[in-house]
Amino acid sequence: MRVTVLGAGVIGLTVADELIRRGHTVAVVDPHPARGASYAAAGMLSPAAEVWHGEEEILRLGTASLALWPALADRLGVELRTAPTLLVGYDAGDLQQVERQAALVGGLGGRATLLDRAAVRACEPVLARVAGAASLEGEMSVDPRAVCAALLARIPVVSGDPGGADVTVVATGACLPEPWAGLVRGVRGEILRVRSDDPPTHTVRGWVGGEPIYLVPRGNGEVVVGATAEEHQAPPVVTAGGVHRLLTAGRTLWPGLDRAELVESTARDRPATADGRPLIGPSGADGVVLAAGHHRHGVLLAPLTARLVADLLDGAAVDPSVDPRRLITAGKERHVDHAQR
Ligand SMILES: Cc1cc2nc3c(=O)[nH]c(=O)nc-3n(C[C@H](O)[C@H](O)[C@H](O)COP(=O)(O)OP(=O)(O)OC[C@H]3O[C@@H](n4cnc5c(N)ncnc54)[C@H](O)[C@@H]3O)c2cc1C
Repeated sequence: MRVTVLGAGVIGLTVADELIRRGHTVAVVDPHPARGASYAAAGMLSPAAEVWHGEEEILRLGTASLALWPALADRLGVELRTAPTLLVGYDAGDLQQVERQAALVGGLGGRATLLDRAAVRACEPVLARVAGAASLEGEMSVDPRAVCAALLARIPVVSGDPGGADVTVVATGACLPEPWAGLVRGVRGEILRVRSDDPPTHTVRGWVGGEPIYLVPRGNGEVVVGATAEEHQAPPVVTAGGVHRLLTAGRTLWPGLDRAELVESTARDRPATADGRPLIGPSGADGVVLAAGHHRHGVLLAPLTARLVADLLDGAAVDPSVDPRRLITAGKERHVDHAQR
């Protein structure tokens, strides 16, 4: 088929790569390739660390996608960091949160090992004295900018739609065109990038006095400190309050942050849907497929999304849990209901 992919973020690029591998002729269109949410993403491939009650489907999808990452990273020649995620509680209240999360993960079939203060110290000595932690085996991280750069080196991107496609895949993140624009909203996330001589060696996700914070080390001494989350209507900008919150919680958990070089602060919109699940499949319009709305998990879910879109074009059934029509139909019903009242 001749396929146009709108959007060259991590989703559009992995979809395009998979379609090309399966023999389709693909044009990718994006005036600003890889500068959307994928540019800010920390790159945690963490289906369990963030799962919460009612999000079991995301855990299932995330676990399936995580299993596809080693082959993708290998093919693209990007580093995959495989040290377990440490879920850290700074004080006794924060530790309760860690224990609740570990119990939830265990109940859903995952592996979470509780660590006392001394075990955390032995495992990650650069952290402050914390109340305790849980180690989540099997989780990973990747540098999304390296992933997008490797994909952009293989796939040319043009700034205008060449037309003539049999199928258009809309992968424009938080900015869907009409009539789908209302299906995705932006949730601003701010992160800092720092460079340190003494970085943590694990992805550390934690709570400090109830404030969520994460530290994601790369191989070169760089550490991503994130992230804020704010529902808003305006363009995503870095705010003084956001930086303050990240630095306050970050340096409490990792005192070495004080000596690290501040390299960058970035804000982008996460593409969120009403039920927290992505939109992967038919759009309701002939020849248009959606691959968007991946919220906090777009990097994690990229290889699974690519596979699902390519399978769909090859004639497979759509996965009902991510079928966009669940929200398109619900939206129309709400509209009719409102008009009748
Ligand atoms: C601070 C932060 C931290 C995050 N951390 C993680 C993490 O650790 N792990 C994880 O899995 N996920 C994480 N995410 C979520 C992840 O970044 C997103 O889910 C993912 O990047 C979405 O990818 P995308 O390709 O759909 O969107 P984007 O990366 O936003 O790409 C969309 C592209 O579409 C283009 N575009 C827009 N309109 C058009 C148009 N009309 N025509 C053509 N092109 C268009 C844009 O220029 C852009 O390049 C994080 C997000 C944020 C903001």
